[in-house]
Amino acid sequence: MVVARDGDGWVECKCGSRHWGLHGAAGLLISRSDSLLMQHRAPWVHNGDSWGIPGGARDSHENWVEAALREADEEIGVLPPTLQVLTQFADDHLTWSYITVIAKIDEEFTPLQLNHESIELRWMKIEEVESLNLHQSFARTWPDLKALLKTVM
Ligand SMILES: [Zn+2]
Repeated sequence: MVVARDGDGWVECKCGSRHWGLHGAAGLLISRSDSLLMQHRAPWVHNGDSWGIPGGARDSHENWVEAALREADEEIGVLPPTLQVLTQFADDHLTWSYITVIAKIDEEFTPLQLNHESIELRWMKIEEVESLNLHQSFARTWPDLKALLKTVM
């Protein structure tokens, strides 16, 4: 069965920004030992030439984990079946939300660049992440994500 993709579109948020994803958006933060998989976003995308994680608009029929996994699958290739979802972090703007799904894998995983929105994918140590030019939304939630990561990794 082919289910309609109905999440693409902009939302004018109460915070004063426009966000991508009519039903919110989700991203996948993958950890492996003490590293995280970071994505360098292409210069031509919204808030481009910055680092973040694979993700995108949620469709109305998806839960947050389904949305994050589908987007990651589209952007970096088929995820290992042993991937474990650990927890989720909500950046809740009331009119719109971005959910970061935190997952871990134990085995080697070489992501593919399947998507024109990404120009590089790199495993980075947690301490190295804030030295990157982070996507502004990711940068804002990073202190909370980092604290949460320390409790689950
Ligand atoms: Zn907002």
